[in-house]
Amino acid sequence: MLPMLSVVAPCHNEAASLDRLHAETIAAIAGLAQDVELILVDDGSTDATLDIATTIANQDPRVRVISFSRNFGKEAAMLAGLKAARGQAVAIIDADLQHPPQLLGEMLAILETGECDQVVARRSREGESRGRAFLSRSFYRMVNGMVEVELADGVGDFRILSRRAVDSLLQLDESSRFSKGLFNWIGYQTRTIDYSNVTRDSGQSSWTLKSLVNYAIDGIVSFNQRPLRSIFVMGFGSVATGLLYLLWLIIGWFLHGVETPGYLTIIAAITLFGGIQLISLSIIAEYVGKIYLEVKARPHYLIATEINDPGSPTQPSPEDVRDRHEPRAQQ
Ligand code: UDP
Ligand code: MG
Repeated sequence: MLPMLSVVAPCHNEAASLDRLHAETIAAIAGLAQDVELILVDDGSTDATLDIATTIANQDPRVRVISFSRNFGKEAAMLAGLKAARGQAVAIIDADLQHPPQLLGEMLAILETGECDQVVARRSREGESRGRAFLSRSFYRMVNGMVEVELADGVGDFRILSRRAVDSLLQLDESSRFSKGLFNWIGYQTRTIDYSNVTRDSGQSSWTLKSLVNYAIDGIVSFNQRPLRSIFVMGFGSVATGLLYLLWLIIGWFLHGVETPGYLTIIAAITLFGGIQLISLSIIAEYVGKIYLEVKARPHYLIATEINDPGSPTQPSPEDVRDRHEPRAQQ
């Protein structure tokens, strides 16, 4: 039996599902380890998430709450949870109950065999809108063609990690995090179990088309330099095509004499090459932007309130919780 198991749940406007999340998660993990903790990371929610999480934490000392000063995104919330987790095994689970907590027992049993450092739950895409499923699938097909790490469709952040895997992940301190790639990058043995898709319990998905497109671009440029190399291939290809076209014109000139050059050909060439240049520039700009972000080395998130934090000598008073929007100095 494990000395301690931590469960990390990033929460952004999940007020409606927190009670169920707490009840079901604790029911699923109590008895699996000598000690368990549920870390709710409130990622700058604008609804009652923090109030409800605070109430739950005040009633149940196994529940810890970390509340950000604003919305920093799920990646930052997961990172904060992983840093705070003290368990020998750490599970990451969505707060909207799309990741069934009941699977945690089965996943932990696999981890405890000691044969692997990560146990991942893979979902089928049943019940998802067709457009969404199509977009996700195309994303994985495209990204896998471009990056060096293998990203599997349906495999999300729902997983249990060994202490060793968590410590390895925490060594990767890049600013723009793309966890799906990072989980794969650290290596170690991984086992996968399957479950069928669960539709959202309540509330709305925080993803918009725009955020999905941004996520896709992050996924591609965070993990490799291949797009930079592809610029070379594109440039080389266009020069070769241009030379062949010139050769064709010269042969034509020998065979049929002087012909008026086509207006359309020129326009087509300008737009084609203009396009290639713009794409190339935007790819480079994307990397330059990433370098800028990394160089600034800003913290991934700012914590406004912590409840049941074992590291802090005093527990926050109710005033602290009420004044949560005023970031306190870190202790
Ligand atoms: N989430 C978060 N910060 C965000 C967006 C989402 O912590 O900025 C959390 C959210 O509360 C949920 C999980 O990440 O627990 C997955 O989010 P969502 O359900 O919106 O994504 P989907 O399941 O549609 O991929
Ligand atoms: Mg969800």
